[in-house]
Amino acid sequence: MTSINPVTRQIADIHISSSQPTNPRPLGHTKQPSQTNVTKLLTKYAAPNPHAAKPPSRVPSPTKPLASRSKPVDPQPAPSSSKPVLEIGKYDGGLELENEERGTVVEGAAARALALDSSMIQVNPTPKWTLHSFEIGRPLGKGRFGRVYMVRTKPPHTPYILALKTLYKSEIVQEGVEKQLRREIEIQQNLRHPNILRLYGYFHDSKRVFLMLEFAGKGELYKQLSKHGSFSERRSSRYIDQMADALSYLHSKHIIHRDIKPENLLIGINGELKIGDFGWSVHAPGNRRKTLCGTLDYLPPEMVENKAHGAHVDLWALGVLMYEFLIGNPPFEDRRGAKNTYLRIARVELHFPAHVSAEPRDLITKLLQYEPEKRLSLTKVLVHPWIIRYRPKDA
Ligand code: AMP
Repeated sequence: MTSINPVTRQIADIHISSSQPTNPRPLGHTKQPSQTNVTKLLTKYAAPNPHAAKPPSRVPSPTKPLASRSKPVDPQPAPSSSKPVLEIGKYDGGLELENEERGTVVEGAAARALALDSSMIQVNPTPKWTLHSFEIGRPLGKGRFGRVYMVRTKPPHTPYILALKTLYKSEIVQEGVEKQLRREIEIQQNLRHPNILRLYGYFHDSKRVFLMLEFAGKGELYKQLSKHGSFSERRSSRYIDQMADALSYLHSKHIIHRDIKPENLLIGINGELKIGDFGWSVHAPGNRRKTLCGTLDYLPPEMVENKAHGAHVDLWALGVLMYEFLIGNPPFEDRRGAKNTYLRIARVELHFPAHVSAEPRDLITKLLQYEPEKRLSLTKVLVHPWIIRYRPKDA
């Protein structure tokens, strides 16, 4: 990063990859979110001020440039008499409790190499975003590297609701996933799509990295699927439509997701699907990769057979996801173990229960093709009769 204005310094200084001069794979679209931009993005996309009389639109308009917004960045405090829209819930003190017991300060070469060391902040010793910038609310869940809380930004920031995700640096280093985290941050912070969870910014202290994420009001899709067993055709079709649109956006940016599965999907406040995890994403323009990754049930034949793979892996996963939504389990699952699942994937042993109608069968079959190039393109998925049938007229 060559020039930064004072308000962007904190974000710039803590940007995990910014002080990595030897970063072997700088991304073409890694424009850093400046502090001003973070505020703008919060204003545009984050859940609204719970006390505001008129909340801003929650549905982002991807075509409208940020600069064209007319909303002030720091509006007047909302009248206290107005009815709360969204409460953040009661804080359980978990962040402090956990921080006492968990993780260690990451120092020295590892921290410097990762630029995760807070001593790296030399330009501006008072970072704009710290844990004190937020009123902490209820716990939203526990992840592999730390907890996630519902939070509200405190004055002088305009109050917005977010999900704050904590990650323990020492555990990231221990698991050797620093690069994966950096990649997740680099990718996610540059994406703007209504069905992709926004990453507004991040900051860190000596032990933790904090990700400021869009709050997915209706939680995990996986929980919904477990609760209902399967989804109706209408609901499945709406989700697949949104997934196809989001994947199409990602592929247009040369990003392959590679880990599409219900566990990585969240549901927004208006019931819309949100891709929420970029841990396995790869930014690979014209680049075919051979790393085996992802969950076995969602892996395409070319990956289980350890062949080179490209963006078509996401089309396969979309077919598996659609099957799981409608039927309640992934198509090649084999309870006898991974080896059998592997064989079923490689042979494309696809069977449908009798209740699955012709249109969804057709779409799934066209996505679950052994040959990657034969899989139905996202453009064609978006105009498939089963997708069009359930798409609202105004969508
Ligand atoms: P993760 O570390 O991403 O696995 O998150 C742990 C849990 O926190 C998830 O299973 C969700 O229940 C919850 N969670 C994570 N991110 C969000 C979010 N942006 N909005 C709402 N809940 C979230």
